[in-house]
Amino acid sequence: MEPSDSTPEESGASRGTPDGSVEPETALETARRQLDRAAALLDVEPRFRDRLAHPATVTEVTVPLERDDGSVDVFTGYRAQHDSVRGPYKGGLRFHPGVDRDECVGLAMWMTWKCAVMDLPFGGAKGGIVVDPKDLSEDERERLTRRFTQEIREVIGPTKDIPAPDMGTDSQAMAWIMDAYSMQEGETIPGVVTGKPPVVGGSYGREGAPGRSVAIVTRETCQYYDRPLEDTTVAVQGFGSVGANAARRLDEWGATVVATSDVNGGVYDPDGLPVDDIPAHDEEPEAVTAFAEEHPELNRISNDELLELDVDVLVPAAVGNVITADNADAIRADLVVEGANGPVTFAADAILEERGIEVLPDILANAGGVTVSYFEWLQDISRRKWSLERVHEELETEMVTAWNALREEVEDRDVTWRDGAYAVALSRIAEAHDSRGLWP
Ligand code: GLU
Repeated sequence: MEPSDSTPEESGASRGTPDGSVEPETALETARRQLDRAAALLDVEPRFRDRLAHPATVTEVTVPLERDDGSVDVFTGYRAQHDSVRGPYKGGLRFHPGVDRDECVGLAMWMTWKCAVMDLPFGGAKGGIVVDPKDLSEDERERLTRRFTQEIREVIGPTKDIPAPDMGTDSQAMAWIMDAYSMQEGETIPGVVTGKPPVVGGSYGREGAPGRSVAIVTRETCQYYDRPLEDTTVAVQGFGSVGANAARRLDEWGATVVATSDVNGGVYDPDGLPVDDIPAHDEEPEAVTAFAEEHPELNRISNDELLELDVDVLVPAAVGNVITADNADAIRADLVVEGANGPVTFAADAILEERGIEVLPDILANAGGVTVSYFEWLQDISRRKWSLERVHEELETEMVTAWNALREEVEDRDVTWRDGAYAVALSRIAEAHDSRGLWP
């Protein structure tokens, strides 16, 4: 592969980081480094690069919550809106103790690229509340979600900014958001949020969509490298909605899923795991280790060991920053398909590239989620529900089209899959900025 315009040293793609900071980087640092690298690769004018390195707005709110015992706790929430040149802001809401302003901005930037790679008419946003949802009762979760919706009500809306589920939030939380927003507006507005239950305007197939897209991208890439899925072994870190759905689709399409994990550890069987028999996190939390306990014949492994297994494909589908400069040398898969957002750090990416390990980036691989969110939004606006078959068919078409556009870019520019994806996204966004201009 030809070197990009910026050398790894210049762009910080060395094992250390250029400013001497220690890994793992924040999502914002990673997102800015990736932007710089892509801007250099494409020779993007600095005025576009500079605008895209910053969010358009970040809303920070205080969210008071009356606890079940009558006391009041105060939480902090954010909604970062990065860029809307191609359409309304779009992106998930996270309930997690690690949420902060910079993380929301970095993840919002990734949503901008993700929507552009998929050619969806959306920009990028992300938000969340600094809270561990495990510390809340169901009633508290509902009150917190509704109050947060009220606090960000001015900045969201079906043509402004459309939230969706992310870590720690689910379809029920989206239904509460839809209800709280609609009650204040005086009319039912399902298009304000996606990832809702189908009974209130959600789309069939939304929940399984990110995992399905991971599987489609894995299948297309394996085919491209002449590797039949029947001869392909896969390790999937995390058995939440992304990991479980990716594992089940890949198993259905002939691959052998040899390992998976939950937060407590993993399980490994070189002959393949019965992935349909292991409950996904939303069906039963932490069920992988429970399953392993019931099946002592299976090998127990740690999450770190899972990443280093000698498999053909590794799907990190749990949290960010799991493949770092510390373990990138130990990865033995030929192909890494990013199910989570940001599982490979910027420094680790350079090591994997040097070692000839292909990385299919999150902004394409898990983009099935936002793509079906787009389908949901269309269904809400047109008040017409699509069948599950139609959702699957349209998702298949969108993913294969986006994968093909990326393959062309990778071949034409002779770059990594990540650089190719950023090139596709950034050229679409820069062109849109150019055509709209800067006003006032
Ligand atoms: N939170 C998901 C993501 O990171 C989905 C966002 C959406 O559907 O808007 O892609």
